[in-house]
Amino acid sequence: MPSTTNRHTPDLLDRTRLALQDDFLRAAVRFTADRLRDKKQSSTEEFGHWEEWRERGRAIRAHTINHLDYYLKQFVDQVRQTGGHVHFAKDAGEAVTSVMQIVREKKARSVVKSKSMVSEEIHINEHLIEAGIEVVETDLGEYIVQLAGETPSHIIIPAIHKTREQIKTLFTNAGGEHLTTDTKVLAGFARKTLREKFLKADIGITGCNFGIAESGTVVLYTNEGNADMVTNLPKTHIVLMGMERILPSFADLEVFANLLPRSATGQKLTTYMSMITGPRRQGDRDGAESLHIIILDNGRSEQLGDPEFQDILHCIRCGACLNVCPVYRQIGGHAYGSVYPGPIGAVLSPLLYQGKQYEDLPFASSLCGACYEACPVKIPIHDMLVRLRARKVRSGHVAKAEQLAFRGYKMIFSHHRRYRLAIKTGRVLQETMAQNGYIQSGFGPLAGWTESRYAPTLKEEPFRDKWEALSKTLKTKS
Ligand code: SF4
Repeated sequence: MPSTTNRHTPDLLDRTRLALQDDFLRAAVRFTADRLRDKKQSSTEEFGHWEEWRERGRAIRAHTINHLDYYLKQFVDQVRQTGGHVHFAKDAGEAVTSVMQIVREKKARSVVKSKSMVSEEIHINEHLIEAGIEVVETDLGEYIVQLAGETPSHIIIPAIHKTREQIKTLFTNAGGEHLTTDTKVLAGFARKTLREKFLKADIGITGCNFGIAESGTVVLYTNEGNADMVTNLPKTHIVLMGMERILPSFADLEVFANLLPRSATGQKLTTYMSMITGPRRQGDRDGAESLHIIILDNGRSEQLGDPEFQDILHCIRCGACLNVCPVYRQIGGHAYGSVYPGPIGAVLSPLLYQGKQYEDLPFASSLCGACYEACPVKIPIHDMLVRLRARKVRSGHVAKAEQLAFRGYKMIFSHHRRYRLAIKTGRVLQETMAQNGYIQSGFGPLAGWTESRYAPTLKEEPFRDKWEALSKTLKTKS
């Protein structure tokens, strides 16, 4: 059954309201986000010197993105030297065209996929299915959301919003057998079903955690072993990677081998770390016979050289910022209406897609800065959110009433006499709404503020007056 927070619901506010009504979703998201956040905390404390590692990660990503043209060329040259094919895609349409061309050339009928956010970004499943190709997600979480007819609601844990009971129902419907909610039973069902799919697939599609420039190696971090099946059993392997996913060398990878799993799942290392350098060579025991790497731009290059937003390309898609975000933790991923949810999505979506429907996402934040504290490469997401809000205001896409309200706010708060007068007036007006020291139901636009929490009333004696009196006493004493 599709989620109640379907991302195609037009308005962010509507999607948010729907998510807030879904108690199962909220409980499931909070439960998993808490676990991931706590595991990250203990694994980084145990590791030690975490701030130094973060700084190393930031510096490597900054250096790489500042010299992306150089490292990207080196990566592409190395892939070609090792026998792989490289395709550049300026946008989602070009990436889809490249995939479909390979599918036609190979006369493929079935595709197995391991987790890839870029594949979600270009909606490749829809195109393959339309062409009559069977597509099967093989990451357990992705498999669950595929069966549910949904999209992932977390970068790392796609089915974070699903309860065990819901998964049991999905698997039971798919397999025609009655299953229990026992983890072993559910995982066993997925394992048996997916093994058959791996064996008959013509093409395997994966994402790419990192592309190593010095060797042309594609690095994949997984926990279920499905990526190894996807890259080894079908004859053709297609890698979908964002153009920014480059690291210069294996020495740099060592830093991210420590940062990524700890930030994503609190693990010291993921169960599998696969490195693919070119297609299968003579004498190799495994590997796909042909390797195609599709490098996607899709709005990324426009951030290069932009001092306000270039740092967003440092992101390693660990998902840590989602787990600590007070907004994401309440509404889950689908309410964002974008492939990329949470704080990273609130910045990335308007920058990459530039559609009007993503302009409101930067407002889905309390600007508390928890995302920055969690980010292993120190991306100042909260600053970018403010800049994107300012960009929306400059574009004039703001309601007249809101513009007037903020003009009035500026007028009052920029002059102390006006400010004092406004506070005095507020003290009189609040009397009709105050109950037990709180305003429990505001009117007009204030109603939204008091819908889910009370606002404390203005005190009879403001701090300013108290401070004046106190400072006079202190001066007399001294
Ligand atoms: S912004 Fe930082 S914390 Fe969020 S997904 Fe990217 S790297 Fe991880």
